[in-house]
Amino acid sequence: MSRLFPVQGATIGRDAQMKHTVQLRRLLHEYNYAYYILDKPQVADAEYDILLRELDRLEKTLALPIPADSPTQTVGSPFAKASSQAFTACEHGVPMLSLANAFCAEEVLAFDQRIIDVLGDEHPREYIVEPKIDGLAVNLRYESGVLVSAATRGDGRVGENVTDNIRGIADIPWRFPASEDIPEVLEVRGEVYMSKAAFKKLNQCQQDAGDKVFANLRNAAAGSLRQLDAKVSAQRKLSFFAYGVGLGGTGWVSSQTELFEALHGLSFAVQNYVCFSDIQAVLNYYDAFLQQRTAMPYDVDGLVFKLNDFELQAQVGAVSRAPRWAIAHKFPAEEVETTVEDIIWQVGRTGVITPVAVMQAVAVAGVMVSRATLHNVNELARKDVRQGDRILVRRAGDVIPEVVCVLGLHDSNRSQPAIVPSHCPECQALIVQEEGESAIRCSGGLSCLAQLKERLSHFVARHGMDIEGLGEKLIARLVDEKFLRSMADLYELDWSCLESWQGIGEKKINNLRQAIELSKSCALPNFLFALGIRHVGQATARSLSETFGTWQAVMAADDEALLAVPDVGHEVAASIRSFFAEPHNVEVLQRLQCAGVQPKPVVVKAIDVAHPLAGKTVVLTGTFKRVTRSDAQTSLRALGAKASSSVSKKTDYVIAGENAGSKLEKANQLGITVANEAQLLLWLGWDKNDIDET
Ligand code: NAD
Repeated sequence: MSRLFPVQGATIGRDAQMKHTVQLRRLLHEYNYAYYILDKPQVADAEYDILLRELDRLEKTLALPIPADSPTQTVGSPFAKASSQAFTACEHGVPMLSLANAFCAEEVLAFDQRIIDVLGDEHPREYIVEPKIDGLAVNLRYESGVLVSAATRGDGRVGENVTDNIRGIADIPWRFPASEDIPEVLEVRGEVYMSKAAFKKLNQCQQDAGDKVFANLRNAAAGSLRQLDAKVSAQRKLSFFAYGVGLGGTGWVSSQTELFEALHGLSFAVQNYVCFSDIQAVLNYYDAFLQQRTAMPYDVDGLVFKLNDFELQAQVGAVSRAPRWAIAHKFPAEEVETTVEDIIWQVGRTGVITPVAVMQAVAVAGVMVSRATLHNVNELARKDVRQGDRILVRRAGDVIPEVVCVLGLHDSNRSQPAIVPSHCPECQALIVQEEGESAIRCSGGLSCLAQLKERLSHFVARHGMDIEGLGEKLIARLVDEKFLRSMADLYELDWSCLESWQGIGEKKINNLRQAIELSKSCALPNFLFALGIRHVGQATARSLSETFGTWQAVMAADDEALLAVPDVGHEVAASIRSFFAEPHNVEVLQRLQCAGVQPKPVVVKAIDVAHPLAGKTVVLTGTFKRVTRSDAQTSLRALGAKASSSVSKKTDYVIAGENAGSKLEKANQLGITVANEAQLLLWLGWDKNDIDET
């Protein structure tokens, strides 16, 4: 990827400056699109911020008319072409702006001075200080106290309608407590974010299921909120803090502090805040906060300073992109320089081989780091990290060490790029790369001891068989000394051999034996998760358990039965089928059974075979007023129906909501019975009196 670095305006001619301005605009548009729409930033935020400031400086120097769509004038990125199939557009009642940034105390003082210039020096100014949450802004529209829509910020004017997904966030009330004071239409604004604890859990699950891990908390929050399946979004444990209002906000409350009290009264989560009446005190608070930023349970990338009084805010006004009465004082990115000592290749549980940079140990955000994942071969090539390079590292979301970039990328004396291995570094089996995948994999399967160790660690982990005391080191030793070759060996271990091992006393052996014994009657979802079937994380294991009741029934399920399970799509179904089709896996399962491993069966809710939809294939199309599509699909599956996405001769019913289009047309052409939303609700067991004719 080509990089543009700031040029010194004074040293180049006006033509070159103009050309550079155009290039910068184009590049920043690209970066905005990658960041806001694809959730895949192409550069570090610090680099983006430098480029944006350079563009702003050039535009001011050139003093030419600035196009309205210049990144210095706009918010976010226009509502996505890429995602328009997924989410409908939703216009905000009042535009959602961004915030001006300050990166040093001088810039904060200049902000204060601009306010003094408008209000006059003698006017008292109270600043409220709030942590700047690193998530994504949403606008919640309430009518008569009921949540009617939720939208992302988008380009500030129009965002993506994420109402279904927002309903899974516990901090957002669907309905306000009854009160006379609430405006008839009220837009509440705030940040959807993911806590560090939820992020850690999510990435662990993603990794266990062989899925993509998220680079940081913001990406995880944005990616989770914009999931097509609201159920998946709900499982991701998103949170929300309210901090502003749009339509309906004027006249309702008169200051930001009053707003926080009012929002809290309406059951919103709000952050702690402090108020100061002089800017120096604000700056002192910032310095003190900086020291404890990593202790926050969610990611905070700065502090926001706002004039507290709404009347004064109105007097100070806004520019096209941001209000002039607020500023975000960003924290310096904790990026630390170090040297790459080596690039190694790590073998994971599913055989995926990951390049990892081994670095000279450095403290980043208070934690020593010496390894950073380079994710996959494409990422390694993109960042072009080589042995001996000086690099910048940071901890993404203060959690995962990440290589930001190589310093001196163009130095002539760099070492050669790392060679992608052709054989597994652990078992020497051939390495393969499936078409369209960025991951490379060891083809050694169970003969690869590195994979075996990872699989066993996964098998005994807390969300799996929960065998306490069997840590990674002990597993590695048991594997290396040939006591363990599969999960089943754990239940047939000759414990007397361990008695002579140093560091393993009788007590530890007894505790281990007890834990292994206890695990024989584990919960079924834990067992299915422990097996390490690709793409089967905890949630899918739970859904499979609730649908089939025993692992034997999961094993016997055909594609159609698997696809009827919530969370299971074609890829997951294929992965489950191929796991149970593998003779070695069947043998291990049989040995586990013989050793007495009997996960507790789950009672499956009986399907009412007399229900008109039992066993039928149903297609939902159009917009439904009373029920979300994903809730309807889940309820249909629970009734024994198969919710399909396309209309064919095999379809039994098409249920059409408002504005149904081509699917309804096709149903009519094929003579398929079409029902409306009211009929659907009756089928789902709603009371007739609760259903308006739709
Ligand atoms: P921003 O993140 O700098 O600040 C504005 C946003 O802060 C608001 O829209 C709101 O969502 C949020 N916010 C959090 N806490 C808040 C609070 N207490 N009160 C009010 N608002 C609060 O602005 P932005 O326009 O979303 O993004 C610009 C920044 O995003 C850039 O400075 C850059 O760091 C990053 N970015 C990076 C890339 C990249 O490629 N790496 C691309 C585009 C943008």
